[in-house]
Amino acid sequence: MKFGKIVDVFEPLEKVTSGNKIRSILADFFKKCPASELKVATYLLSGRISSEYKGVITGMSNKLVLRSVSIAAKKDLKKVNELFKRTGDAGLTAQQLVGRRRESLSVKKVFQSLHKIAGASGAKSQDFKIKELANLLRIASSKEAKYIARLVVGKMRLGAGDRAILDALSIAFTGSKEARKELDKAYQANPDLGYLAEMISRRKIRGIKTVGVVFKRPIKVMLAQRAKSFQEIFEKIKGEMAVEEKYDGERMQVHVQGKNIRIFSRRLEDISRQYPDVIDCIRRNIRCKSCILDGEGCAVDKKGRLLSFQLLMQRRRKYDVEKYIKKIPVCLFLFDLLFLNGKSCLQEDYPARYKALKSVVKKQTSCAKLANRIVTKNPKKIQSFFNKMLKKGAEGVMIKSMENDSVYKAGTRGWLWIKWKKEYAKGMVDTFDLVVVGAFRGHGKRAGSYGSLLCAVYNSKTRKFETFTKLGSGFTDKQLKELPKIFRKYESKEKDKRVSAKKELKPDLWFKPVIVVEVLGAEITKSPLHTAEGLALRFPRFLRFRPDKSAYQATSVKEILNFYKKK
Ligand code: AMP
Repeated sequence: MKFGKIVDVFEPLEKVTSGNKIRSILADFFKKCPASELKVATYLLSGRISSEYKGVITGMSNKLVLRSVSIAAKKDLKKVNELFKRTGDAGLTAQQLVGRRRESLSVKKVFQSLHKIAGASGAKSQDFKIKELANLLRIASSKEAKYIARLVVGKMRLGAGDRAILDALSIAFTGSKEARKELDKAYQANPDLGYLAEMISRRKIRGIKTVGVVFKRPIKVMLAQRAKSFQEIFEKIKGEMAVEEKYDGERMQVHVQGKNIRIFSRRLEDISRQYPDVIDCIRRNIRCKSCILDGEGCAVDKKGRLLSFQLLMQRRRKYDVEKYIKKIPVCLFLFDLLFLNGKSCLQEDYPARYKALKSVVKKQTSCAKLANRIVTKNPKKIQSFFNKMLKKGAEGVMIKSMENDSVYKAGTRGWLWIKWKKEYAKGMVDTFDLVVVGAFRGHGKRAGSYGSLLCAVYNSKTRKFETFTKLGSGFTDKQLKELPKIFRKYESKEKDKRVSAKKELKPDLWFKPVIVVEVLGAEITKSPLHTAEGLALRFPRFLRFRPDKSAYQATSVKEILNFYKKK
């Protein structure tokens, strides 16, 4: 297949915003796409060159891409940079300068080249990447060059996300959105769009039903709803419940197959390299042929006392890993088991999964142990466990249903798990994970930095990030100074297509919705200024950055609506 066929889809996708139109453009393409090319085409349409969890990236910034453009177009780099300053987009810059010579590029050629670029490492890798991309641009048409450059820097500027692709696959191969539910389930257990596309095209809905958990392929994590009142916990969970300490660390999904062990983050990134100590600990203390464990890794001191999330984040590093293992030891607190000896446990209830988890934990040690918990339905006991956890310095508790339907709902924030935190207990304030979509310039003391950040919540129905508050307080002077440095990479000339904001609330700078901040807010009120169902968060205070969360894992509109109604 010619790469031009994919460009023919990218072009209209860039212009339309209506979900229905996006779905029908994609579905039309899928219907016509040859089966042998479907996998690769699906990756490219999702703006990637692999599945989300494999996360293969080219590792080229705008700066490097512009150097390739300069070579391919035989234009002075200074001129290329000048044009980039005007367009603000490596794709548009490439489109305007290259594409004089036209050969017919195949999808295969583009995909292989991008993988060659991604695979290059070592001392001379930068030069190699620049040359390889220049060679590709040299034989591309100008339109093709635009999308190749955007694929390389990972900024497609399209309205279509993974959900639209799943809808379109269902429409293309079953004639309606009927397979969407099954596709969703399959995607949560096995988040690989290319693989799912192949499966549904070959074996229709029956094939999708067979998609299950696969070793070394991370499963989307299950999340918890927040309770607005203590009472609400008992409205949602009727019988006995497991009340567990809520740890403030990093989610770890550990895949174990004999001696082969990998750890995945909440964002499905492979973080094994950062935690060789955890891997070693699991190797020594977990007994199974194969299993997938779910838990929270926390920084601890020599006596096993829990340390802060900020300290743990120092373990997220490429270099000096060994030094930091000693400096900041980690303990993994286990609370679930998703797979055991070749069989998925996702559809089993929590008591059965927990029993299986206990059976594989050979020894509880200072580096891996079962999460603190009680099982009860007695409110007094829950309250006293909660108080005990707070005294210990925990964030709160996680309360989990033990009913027959308490399956592991991968990728879902449902009422089978409920979080109950100290902020909620005070009844006044709450924390929210918000996506930063823009900034207002600072004046006076804040000149050169930002006065405030425009923050949004995610609406999965409209698939938009809807504005919810302006965040200006809670930053230290040092943090304030660093804000422009942190956000520069995400600046975009216009409002991102996925962001919904009122005209009256136009920030000085727009950002791609990537960075998530945790914010403390005192009250949710009605406000005509914001698009999140007309609700706004009052008196927000910055608490910390959440590099472990992706924008789509931010607080949702549904959650804030729920919160608002109950208050
Ligand atoms: P939140 O980030 O506030 O939505 O809370 C959900 C997160 O709490 C999960 O993703 C886990 O990383 C973390 N967590 C801490 N302790 C537990 C626990 N006992 N069970 C489940 N999740 C937990």
